[in-house]
Amino acid sequence: MIRWAAILILFLIAAPHPAAAERVALTFDDLPTLSLSEDPAYATTTTRRLLADLRRERLPAIGFVVGDKFEDTPAVRAALLGRWIRAGVELGNHTYSHGSPNKMGAEAYIADIARDDALLRQILAPAHRTPRWFRHPYLETGPTLADQRRIEAWLAANGYRIAPVTVVNSDDQFALPYDEAILKGDRGAAAAIQGEYLAYTAICLDWYRKAALELLGRRPDLVMLLHASRLNADSLGDLAAMLRTRGLTPSPLDVVMRDPAYAIAEVQADANGDDWLERWSVTLKKDLDWTGFQDPPADVVAATARLDTEP
Ligand SMILES: [Zn+2]
Repeated sequence: MIRWAAILILFLIAAPHPAAAERVALTFDDLPTLSLSEDPAYATTTTRRLLADLRRERLPAIGFVVGDKFEDTPAVRAALLGRWIRAGVELGNHTYSHGSPNKMGAEAYIADIARDDALLRQILAPAHRTPRWFRHPYLETGPTLADQRRIEAWLAANGYRIAPVTVVNSDDQFALPYDEAILKGDRGAAAAIQGEYLAYTAICLDWYRKAALELLGRRPDLVMLLHASRLNADSLGDLAAMLRTRGLTPSPLDVVMRDPAYAIAEVQADANGDDWLERWSVTLKKDLDWTGFQDPPADVVAATARLDTEP
């Protein structure tokens, strides 16, 4: 009897854990929409399609709100954000004016976060919710470590956790040229941009997974940065299939953030807006292998530079 118990204990210790599911959190920035057009009808269609596909594909998600979008039409802004709230998608803070702490300084930057916080609390109050997550615009966390710590202290004191990013597919580079094609009614051009976007996303997913595996010696759960664009509204089914064929399970941000990798402390300021793999590589003193990494297609980048008139 005792021998059997000992064997059983040995078996339990030695038995391999079942392969942990590799999770990915989908995070959508620049709500209500990242778009070439502030036409409420266009924004509403984008929002409806995004939310319908999130539900159909059973994709947990979080949206990060920029308060000054649709500032002149607060009723439109409230209606668009109300759709996300009713769909059960959590809303987080992405600052009020999408500024950079490098340009504004920490104090003005914190005031801008607080302004977005006030708007979010007002919008979320009827649903008895409060904002819990913050995403830095441009992933810029502060020009010095002291600035970064000061911003982090405000966030923590006000109930926020920071949403890191460990997969980037530069979807914002494709979004405006796609809008332009859709608004012109040029379906051929739109399909071509979407094709380039999906091909580039596959390259990025594979590179980030490989880089994370090499850096940590295991596959961490991932946080993917996306934007609330028409392009993503029209591509969510393809994106979901791309994740699932790679064995990635779309999961809530809270769950992904339980991965211990996200506890790796930053030891040096990162003024460049780098993703968190690059930040971890600094802390762990281990270079990332950039082999296989590609920049977005030059024609798409050029089209975005032409269309993006914001400073
Ligand atoms: Zn943004």
